[in-house]
Amino acid sequence: MRDDLDRSISILQGDPAPLAGAGYPQDSADAASTLSETDRTEAILHSARGQRDEVLAALARIEGNTYGRCIDCGGDIPEGRLDARPDAARCVGCQAKHARRR
Ligand SMILES: [Zn+2]
Repeated sequence: MRDDLDRSISILQGDPAPLAGAGYPQDSADAASTLSETDRTEAILHSARGQRDEVLAALARIEGNTYGRCIDCGGDIPEGRLDARPDAARCVGCQAKHARRR
């Protein structure tokens, strides 16, 4: 999962960023479409990086033998939840509380 994300991130970082501001002659229509393309890539990149952080945190919990335990209440995270979200850091109740706090 981490490798997949690393690959996605490096692909996204390599494209289309090198095109923007690399001295390519562009008319304004091209520039506008490049900009929205870049915005979209940035948004995907942002969420991929966020997900990667969660995966890395999950890997750290595996190493520390706390994987599968809620980082807030210390309770066991149900296996069904870990199947759906292997990088889940919180039990369903704490995740809901965490999401509301944001
Ligand atoms: Zn919890």
